[in-house]
Amino acid sequence: MIRLGVLIILLGCLLPLPLRAGELATYTTRYYTFVTDLPADKARIVADRMDLICDTYRQYFPGAVTTKPLAMYVFTRHADYSSFMKKTTGAPMQEWNPAVFFEKDNWMVTAACMEGLNGLTPLFSSLQHEGLHQFVQAAYGNSMPIWTNEGLAQIFEHTLIGRDRVIPGAAPIS
Ligand SMILES: [Zn+2]
Repeated sequence: MIRLGVLIILLGCLLPLPLRAGELATYTTRYYTFVTDLPADKARIVADRMDLICDTYRQYFPGAVTTKPLAMYVFTRHADYSSFMKKTTGAPMQEWNPAVFFEKDNWMVTAACMEGLNGLTPLFSSLQHEGLHQFVQAAYGNSMPIWTNEGLAQIFEHTLIGRDRVIPGAAPIS
């Protein structure tokens, strides 16, 4: 199911990009405006990963055109993530939800918090899940049934990346 708060549709003032110059770096990737306080080496890993995942979204939806820009925010500290969510959405932060997708002023925004996710692997799973919602919303608006949207997000949440293959829906190795 779509967790409460995962999909927040909001209208209002302009999206602050970046939120606080000097603390957050903004990277322009092939698909995303990526704003983060992660160290540059980790930011590059996240950016490359999500560009590869977005290539795969596009393979799953041939011909899909994302008519709205895609933004991705990743914060190290929960306090900064929480502050960003409050300032950007005006909604109370849901402390239990370390990654969200929401729409704001024509921007499709995925935001996540490292402190809530404890490592790159859970971060990738969350970004891949929310990123699917983000991509679908940017390409199709609200036309996709919720159950289809959520099912696809869960498939992409569990994605294995091999040497030359990206495999969505792969069971985690344990
Ligand atoms: Zn979802």
